[in-house]
Amino acid sequence: MEKPDRSFEEQRFSAFFHQALVGIAHTDLSGRFVLVNQRYCEIVGRTQEELLNLRMQDLTHPDDVGGNLELFQRTTQGGPPFIIEKRYLRPDGSIVWVNNSVSALMNAEGRAHLLMAITQDISERKRSETQLRFLSDASRLLSEWPEDAVRVLQGLTRLATASVATMCLAELVRPDGSPCHVAVAHRDSSQESLLQQVMKSPSSPGSPLHPVLQTGEARLDTHLAPEQLAALRALGAHSAMAVPLKARGRVLGILFFGTSEPGQRYAPDDLAMAQELAHRTVATLENARLFREAQEAIQLRDEFLSVASHELRTPLVSLSLQLELVHRVLNEESRRQVENRFFVVRRQLGRLSSLVNDLLDVSNISAGKLELELADVDLVQLTRDVLERMHVVFEQNGCAVTLHAPSEPLRGQWDAARLEQVLINLLGNATRYGQGRPIVVNIRADNDRAWLSVRDEGIGIAPEDLPRIFDRFERAVSRRHYGGLGLGLYITRQIVESLGGQVRVESEPGQGSLFEVFLPRTALR
Ligand code: ADP
Repeated sequence: MEKPDRSFEEQRFSAFFHQALVGIAHTDLSGRFVLVNQRYCEIVGRTQEELLNLRMQDLTHPDDVGGNLELFQRTTQGGPPFIIEKRYLRPDGSIVWVNNSVSALMNAEGRAHLLMAITQDISERKRSETQLRFLSDASRLLSEWPEDAVRVLQGLTRLATASVATMCLAELVRPDGSPCHVAVAHRDSSQESLLQQVMKSPSSPGSPLHPVLQTGEARLDTHLAPEQLAALRALGAHSAMAVPLKARGRVLGILFFGTSEPGQRYAPDDLAMAQELAHRTVATLENARLFREAQEAIQLRDEFLSVASHELRTPLVSLSLQLELVHRVLNEESRRQVENRFFVVRRQLGRLSSLVNDLLDVSNISAGKLELELADVDLVQLTRDVLERMHVVFEQNGCAVTLHAPSEPLRGQWDAARLEQVLINLLGNATRYGQGRPIVVNIRADNDRAWLSVRDEGIGIAPEDLPRIFDRFERAVSRRHYGGLGLGLYITRQIVESLGGQVRVESEPGQGSLFEVFLPRTALR
């Protein structure tokens, strides 16, 4: 192959150098520029003539000079090439982020005599990274105090002024439609009252927020009227944007961002970031509102239940007493005549009382007032008594009940009445949902614990319902087929847990259910 002549080499180098889409600069060992290409000049915002009178460290952001010089010196002393991300300051005060790849050019003696930097403008990437970091920090903040809108907005404005804005302001629109500033932040906190003053109320036409309140749409300052732009200038902001906090078509507030950072101008992608932040903020605040409302509704329901159950209990007790009194004063003949009716009335009264008692228990539990009366209790005897008392119920439902229990007493420090309640709930459910099939009760114990289980072969429970059936008012059957309030298992779990035990369930639809209770035998202190 023919050897290219020197002028060809020079032409080739010149073409690479001048046409490159990256900046190329040669400096001497002190950092002084000796050769720069056009792209480099564009990146740093200076002419070739200016640069040849400067050193690379003269352009570098003061905070980045130290780290850069150290690497630079290492390379001039024969060290390896290096790559660094750093900031240059342009003459207009704006910052440009670059990726610099630097290596030494050797002379005939093999010593470094020039350094070559290949420079890429990475400001856009850095800007996106800042936006993303801001959004992710903001999201973290939104998850921290979602219930307090004002604190959330104060946190957000402070966060914004630490990265994407010089100044930031948040407005909330009151229920009567009037807006008010709820959070104001400026990098220079002495400017915050001026910011508040200049922004005025968004409902006043001179406010830069006015267009957003009127249209409900996000705006860059390019849409502002002269008076509104003048307000921004008074703040020293040369670029600004504002986004609505909108829910269900209504503007609930506004977020405003302004910058006086040289060279920073908000662009459509900044506006998109601000809108994303506004969406996340609104979603968090709306969720917090819904949650608060749900909590309030639950509290109202609990208060109502507590009052209603207390109010219902008194006449019920009196009704039962009166019924028994009437029964007692009837003569033999009349008693025989009304016996069936009495039986039905007593049963219905019993059902009503147990529903009211469940409601009463739930409100006591919610108020933390589940009191236990611990005593020496024989679980075997207690179970036999309950089975005896419930035998009519089992008979009516056609359920055969078998008890497997130790022949000797099984004692523990428990609350007898509450334990009976647990048994009645589990046996009542096994009967109601047991489809008339056999029920088996098992009792066993070791020195420290007792186990009680109730197994039925009834309708069973779907796996997805199992986690919730121990919660208040939770049911896994249709109200049309089975009556009930969904409180029995909730109360059962509360009782068992306050005795230091646990209750668990295993079940398969169509196969039946096994409820197991374990209880420590010693009294809880
Ligand atoms: P209730 O029976 O009044 O609805 P519970 O709290 O006692 O309330 O029970 C909650 C739900 O758990 C019931 O609605 C039912 O769906 C389910 N469940 C409880 N025990 C059984 C069982 N032995 N077999 C099938 N489902 C049951």
